Amino acid sequence: MPIHMIPPLINRDIYSAFRARKGLSKKELPLGSLSGAQAYQYVRDELFLDGNARQNLATFCTTWVEPEVEKLMVDSIDKNMIDKDEYPQTAEIEARCVHMIAHLWHSPDAETTVGCSTTGSSEAAMLGGLALKWKWRAKREAEGKPADKPNIVCGPVQVCWHKFARYFDVELRQVPLEDGYLHMQPKQLKDYIDENTIAVVPTLGVTYTGVYEPVADICHELDHLHKTTGLDIPVHVDAASGGFIAPFLHQKVNWDFRLARVCSINASGHKFGLAPLGVGWIIWRTQDDLPEDLIFHVDYLGGNMPTFALNFSRPGGEVIVQYYNFIRLGLRGYTDVQQACAEVAQHIADRLAQLDDLEILYNGNGALPCVCYKLKQPDKKKFTLYDLSERVRIRGWQIASYPLPANSEDVVVQRIMVRHGVSHDLADLLMDDIEKGLEYLERHPVKHSEAGPSFSHG
Ligand SMILES: *Cc1c(COP(=O)(O)O)cnc(C)c1O
Repeated sequence: MPIHMIPPLINRDIYSAFRARKGLSKKELPLGSLSGAQAYQYVRDELFLDGNARQNLATFCTTWVEPEVEKLMVDSIDKNMIDKDEYPQTAEIEARCVHMIAHLWHSPDAETTVGCSTTGSSEAAMLGGLALKWKWRAKREAEGKPADKPNIVCGPVQVCWHKFARYFDVELRQVPLEDGYLHMQPKQLKDYIDENTIAVVPTLGVTYTGVYEPVADICHELDHLHKTTGLDIPVHVDAASGGFIAPFLHQKVNWDFRLARVCSINASGHKFGLAPLGVGWIIWRTQDDLPEDLIFHVDYLGGNMPTFALNFSRPGGEVIVQYYNFIRLGLRGYTDVQQACAEVAQHIADRLAQLDDLEILYNGNGALPCVCYKLKQPDKKKFTLYDLSERVRIRGWQIASYPLPANSEDVVVQRIMVRHGVSHDLADLLMDDIEKGLEYLERHPVKHSEAGPSFSHG
């Protein structure tokens, strides 16, 4: 029988099937359907082109999880965080996490504290910023003063604060980096705050360099300014990364609710909280710090639940896994994991410090487990750090290079973020490739480099 007369297979080979030969639909829904196995394979194949997340040392986010975490994520794929009445135990688990984190951050009353999970630190920052704006406005109106020009004062913040400022009509006053410092200095504050300042936002773990802003000194300066000027300005700490590092590695650093001026704190569960992507946290010092009229009481899902969130529906798995991590690791386990990361970062810094080309700006000791460095004498080099990022990318590594913010824009830095799963051996492989990359660039100067910043802070 001629081959074209044999009826086609019911279950056709995935790559000889019609769709694979013609290409997938890209701009409109296809007319027909595919089998699940086919569609899965085609989509998965495309994802090969994404970077390998484990070699991405530009991100702060979780890229390795235990098999139990994968199971719990699949088990909870159908849980909606907002349906607190339908999934009361997920809601209970969220509340437990809030109290555990409040306790970790020395809340004066961790048992009754208010806080919630979010999709990440960005949403948490929006909620924190809104609460501050509402409180400031209420105070101004009570005093019969204008309340139409709020501002927020910060150091080198992550892009989420620029978004908060733009979306919610608040002026962002970013204190510039001066005198060679990698963070805002308390003495600069007096020139930036006024009666319209809703808060000062220090960052515990500046994204550019990994250092902590001096939260305690900033609070002391604000205490002093309160006494001398009458301006009583609250502090929100953006502890997206440091909120899950400092409590384990740097207990002596005073940055949290131990400082009376700190009224709210956010952190990303999906960074050093070790949860998979999609969870952040915000905790307020007391109930009074979260204005009642920002809370919506939703009752159409069969119960009356107070919520404060930008989204309505949201997956519950990340929150459930956050709780898994808390009970799985405990204080001891988190300390071990973060300490291991810090040791790897310091090992990386030691190796990089031996290279003639590089100058270490932060060596992974005392703040986030990362390393930040720049080229020695960049003007005399025939290549940039952007070229070096591209060079190691050939081996699959992703490391971020970018200029520092104002007033240090002329300094281009590179940063290697060490997270759970970046082992000593993996770090050595990367260091070998960086050394080879530098040797290569010395031998082959780049004439027309098109390499540019590889990481956006805003
Ligand atoms: C990552 C980060 C954010 C944003 O957090 P997401 O969880 O990614 O939304 C905000 N602030 C700082 C300091 C960060 O490091």
